[in-house]
Amino acid sequence: MKNQAGINKFHLSKLFGTEMLHLFDKMPVSVFIKALDGEHLFVNQMFCDVVGRSREEVLGKRDLDLFPKEEALAHLRQDQMVVEGWAQASCYDFQRHVVDLEGEKIDFSVYKSTIEDPLSKEIVGIIGMGIDKTQENSLYKKLEFRVNYDELTGLPNHKRMTAALELAKADAEPYGVFVIDWASMGGINETFGFAFGDRLLQSLADRLKQLAEEKTGRIFRLKMDGFALLLPLKDKKSEAVARELALEFEEYNFEGLVLSQGVQVGFSEEGIQAESGSQWVNNARLALNSIRGKKEAKWMSYSPALKKKRIRRFQLENRLRSAVDEQRIYVVYQPIMELKSGEIGMVEALARWRDPELGEISPSEFIPISESNGAIMQIGEFVMEEAFSMIKEINSGRAVPIRMALNLSIKQMEQPEFADRVMEVAARHQLDPKWIELEVTENLKFDRHGVANENLNRLDAEGFSIVIDDFGNGYAAMERLMNRYVKQVKVSQFFTERMMKDINVQKLVSHMVELSKQMGLKVVAEGVETVEQLNFYQKHQVDFIQGFYYYRPALRNSIRNWLVSTE
Ligand code: C2E
Ligand code: CA
Ligand code: CA
Repeated sequence: MKNQAGINKFHLSKLFGTEMLHLFDKMPVSVFIKALDGEHLFVNQMFCDVVGRSREEVLGKRDLDLFPKEEALAHLRQDQMVVEGWAQASCYDFQRHVVDLEGEKIDFSVYKSTIEDPLSKEIVGIIGMGIDKTQENSLYKKLEFRVNYDELTGLPNHKRMTAALELAKADAEPYGVFVIDWASMGGINETFGFAFGDRLLQSLADRLKQLAEEKTGRIFRLKMDGFALLLPLKDKKSEAVARELALEFEEYNFEGLVLSQGVQVGFSEEGIQAESGSQWVNNARLALNSIRGKKEAKWMSYSPALKKKRIRRFQLENRLRSAVDEQRIYVVYQPIMELKSGEIGMVEALARWRDPELGEISPSEFIPISESNGAIMQIGEFVMEEAFSMIKEINSGRAVPIRMALNLSIKQMEQPEFADRVMEVAARHQLDPKWIELEVTENLKFDRHGVANENLNRLDAEGFSIVIDDFGNGYAAMERLMNRYVKQVKVSQFFTERMMKDINVQKLVSHMVELSKQMGLKVVAEGVETVEQLNFYQKHQVDFIQGFYYYRPALRNSIRNWLVSTE
């Protein structure tokens, strides 16, 4: 050997540092450091485990003391080859069988390299690592399976799919990607447990795999959204395929149950629209996500417009969080005309959002978003404070008080403390509850025992008026009219807009107004823009007119001035 001096154990920590040696100890491979004369200066725990000896038994010993003669000589030959630079990369890899404690053979691979003194550049020792090939192989296979396949269903996962989609994109034949998910997996897990949910997914996987094969396509399992099918379209329309897939699962027999939730399908036909395979499937996912939770919608095609909408919603969601804190939400008021007196009978508070980058955003757009992300609580609270202080200011100097209409979201009314909160704010502003009208929109289910209903009952008892907004738009309207606390309805703008062009709509509006009046309710007509619309409502003797014909929503100051000048 070249350098008889080599390293000894005192040099060791200088060369590697104690931290590095400590790290070696934790590695799941055997690590050893030998001096040039073959003495073991360092071995890690794994090395000791593999040779079945304690560290004390190993340190200071040479290979001939530790291993059967033939094996030891082989090790020494390899040491010499590395030191003499036979192996160019000064790294040596060889495989041999080492007998472990249980007498089984382990397939080993050892990598060796020389240790050089950083100053003199002389070779001073050998460092090596032994890797248990048998373990490594099975670990590798497991890892590979995890990386490429779904454990539950055994189907290839999104990683495999991305590659397959790239190929399909390059193919001349047109393909469609169909993302399919059970319509209410959460509900299934809740009702029947996760084990059932897993079995259902496995069963869906089998059925879909069969379908994919029939259509000479492929199936993949997605991480979050069920499954994706890559199907050649041939001369079929992708919509027809999506329909077929949805209908296939309309009633699903599983473990003695007939499940009727069904699946939803989002699809994207043109791979060409997407830059990459992963974008293609994302487009199909986007289509699916746009119909999630909507019971009637069973399939949806991707379109660039859908993506634009999604991006906008995402932007708004993000910016809305700070909009409230940074006072970008404000309130405007729209006066509502009382026909009998020809005077402003009430004003409606309407939320506004002005974003420095996106400009004015309509409440029809941001209120639903705020309802889904919870921001409605803060917004509703803010509008209420504003509106209550506004009406107090106005009515303070008036003989005949004006009423303030406030829009409520169902999310607010579902808070158990909501009624208390309204009373508290009204009391703080010293309001007469008679001045306040609480507008309740549709999709508030008529539920006698629900929290929302209880809140409304309490507010009614306290003297606040409950108004049905957008009357006629919701399916439960009639039922709701019979609820004793409803005092007033607002005929939806939707009808005002259409009634002059459609005689049937006109008849319907007549009936709605008639019916409401017979039930002793006051009627507000919304969205009145033209004199024809006004005449129609006058003829039917509605009580109030709201609309651009008389007034547009305006800031607090202008409203105050109008009211002062009209009194
Ligand atoms: P809404 O309660 O039906 O309010 C009436 C809407 O009709 C307002 O739209 C108003 O500006 C508009 N409008 C009034 N007269 C006319 C007209 O003659 N022609 C036309 N084309 N439109 C007219 P806006 O302010 O955009 O509000 C939209 C919806 O957003 C409201 O409909 C309400 O449902 C909701 N909203 C607004 N502010 C709030 C709020 O503070 N809380 C809650 N929960 N919802 C709110
Ligand atoms: Ca309203
Ligand atoms: Ca309305």
